[in-house]
Amino acid sequence: MKFDTVIIGGGLAGLTAGICLQKARRTTAVISTGQSALHFFSGAFETLGNDARTIELFGEAGIRLHYREGWRLMPLGSFREATLSLEDIRFFEERKVGRKALILNFLGYSDFFPEFIAEGLRSTGTACRTGILRIPEVEVLRLSPSEVRSVHIARAMDKVWEKVVQEIRLLHRDEDVIILPQVFGLSDPTVPGQLQGAVPAKVIFAGTLPPSVPGIRTQWQLRRRYEVLGGTFLLGDEAREAVFDGPVLKQILTRNLGAHPLEADHFILASGSFFSKGLSSSPTGIREPLFGLDVSASSDRNAWYDADFHADQPYMGFGVLTDSRLHALKDGRPLPNLFAAGSILGATRPELGSGAGLAIRSAFAITDFLTA
Ligand SMILES: Cc1cc2nc3c(=O)[nH]c(=O)nc-3n(C[C@H](O)[C@H](O)[C@H](O)COP(=O)(O)OP(=O)(O)OC[C@H]3O[C@@H](n4cnc5c(N)ncnc54)[C@H](O)[C@@H]3O)c2cc1C
Repeated sequence: MKFDTVIIGGGLAGLTAGICLQKARRTTAVISTGQSALHFFSGAFETLGNDARTIELFGEAGIRLHYREGWRLMPLGSFREATLSLEDIRFFEERKVGRKALILNFLGYSDFFPEFIAEGLRSTGTACRTGILRIPEVEVLRLSPSEVRSVHIARAMDKVWEKVVQEIRLLHRDEDVIILPQVFGLSDPTVPGQLQGAVPAKVIFAGTLPPSVPGIRTQWQLRRRYEVLGGTFLLGDEAREAVFDGPVLKQILTRNLGAHPLEADHFILASGSFFSKGLSSSPTGIREPLFGLDVSASSDRNAWYDADFHADQPYMGFGVLTDSRLHALKDGRPLPNLFAAGSILGATRPELGSGAGLAIRSAFAITDFLTA
């Protein structure tokens, strides 16, 4: 199979690159092993600021973003400065959600922590009360404890969120704020807004333990947009081997396609960092496993980490080295048709930011270059 560009990795960087290229009428394929960092996404896009291009691109995929200077509530009741975020993440002007908060959880759901949130909010002067939501469709899930996860509850909630509204009305007294786990809008992104409009107080959706429902939804929406634009998404496949002609990458062999290689004029490596196995570590070193690209990592293993658990860990900054156009380097030389995007760059390109900012900006930079 021959494409203009083959992208390895279907996370935020790979999908952003794929959408940009499809919009520019290039033919592309994305090879994706499956789970990406988006499945753990908080809903806030680090280091992006009020980025009009991202807001427009995501809007076209049905993902509504908003930007306001402020604070957002974290899963354990602390506050973090707000950035560009999904629409259902609420921002506050100060580190306070309101006067009185009612924090509600589903019976039997242990990946959400009302007591921690209450403790955090009380320290900011908000009176808190906790309560339990009893929804038959969630009770059924409790028959198998491994199924009481955010995504299982979320599947039920898209159909029965109005029952949650009824329960809230019974439990609500005079609180101006109601806090619920972030398990709404998995397949229907309008549900969080409808629920907020139907409840007699300000509703805040607070983060749960992974998987992240807004993150999974974002991944689905980006993938759907990519496919609607004509992209080929090879889900559950893995790039295994590369065929070069001198410095030029010609083909990628994948696990599922066996002897049928993917050919392209250009390739983008967006396989993530250690978390997604885009980088791997062993006692002898840090490697990029598919192409053996040059990686910025200390050869002294003791320099990989800081003994202070809370410090920024040096290994988090390790990444694939590139030239100024994001061509990946191998043995000190740029490969003419292989680019690196997203968290596989680590902190090697500080001007592109970090987190989601790095994933999106590096994808924009490469695709602008390829479509100029
Ligand atoms: C747990 C976690 C939570 C995070 N939360 C946030 C957040 O809330 N906000 C924020 O701004 N940033 C967050 N980040 C930073 C995050 O790295 C970026 O936001 C961004 O999502 C990274 O996207 P990516 O596409 O570069 O990599 P990834 O999302 O890691 O995607 C890489 C993909 O490539 C696939 N892959 C790897 N090797 C192969 C192969 N050989 N063949 C095919 N596919 C392959 C992986 O399976 C994965 O699907 C988080 C990071 C982690 C690890």
